[in-house]
Amino acid sequence: MPLPPDLHVHSEWSWDAPIGHMERSCERALEIGLPGIAFTEHADWVTIHNGQHVLDIAGYHEAIERCRAQFMNLRILSGVELGEPHWFPDQTRDVLAAGPLDRVLGSIHCVHIGDDTVDASQFRLRPADEQPGAIREYFRETLAMVESSEPFETLAHLDYPKRYWPDDLQPYREQDYEEEIRAILTAAQRRGLVLEANSTRGEEGKLSPGLTVLRWWYQIGGEAVSFGSDAHRPDNVAGGFGLATQVVAAAGFKPAPDPMSLWRR
Ligand SMILES: [Zn+2]
Ligand SMILES: [Zn+2]
Repeated sequence: MPLPPDLHVHSEWSWDAPIGHMERSCERALEIGLPGIAFTEHADWVTIHNGQHVLDIAGYHEAIERCRAQFMNLRILSGVELGEPHWFPDQTRDVLAAGPLDRVLGSIHCVHIGDDTVDASQFRLRPADEQPGAIREYFRETLAMVESSEPFETLAHLDYPKRYWPDDLQPYREQDYEEEIRAILTAAQRRGLVLEANSTRGEEGKLSPGLTVLRWWYQIGGEAVSFGSDAHRPDNVAGGFGLATQVVAAAGFKPAPDPMSLWRR
């Protein structure tokens, strides 16, 4: 199966990618025969982690232009990963107005639990009996983002908390949240969103979403799927794409003749 473009990659322009590297990620993409790469840097406005900084969107656009001039044989797409854009409509508008972006991802990383704003990577620090409620809140917030009018075209890592599900609990199961997930998929289909298959840089069992949800997406009439490794360093570009393409094909989606195109039903 030909490798699709990696449409979710971070570089040094993302606050959580200190060893990210735009040029070396382009070199890596060429080395492994990818048709293209999209640098979708974090545009986050919730401050959760120390050392978090706001995206320098002007500097980022210049870096994209430098790489396009340097790597003429690679399709280099610009982009951002908006974090909770419906909480930050003004900031979202400003970042999108700073220059043309080929890919705009909508992501939920954080939810409100009581008075706290919690990143899903921190759910596991909470008591075991709070995990399912936190996951439900994650899906509720995702639905709110999808139903908002914020301008993104791809729904990124739909079941992101799965990445951080505690090992000592019984395994995470999509079926336990079927109603919530189907509501999101239905709203996403209505809006014409693309569903991302996020390969979590090749970590085993962390395809987000996995086959069960991709099949639901197909059943309800979802049109398109994109592939994103969520690499935060050059080595991880397209990590896990071998398996991800097989799973997405098993759900019923097919590559188009143009290798830069999304996979469609
Ligand atoms: Zn993300
Ligand atoms: Zn990301």
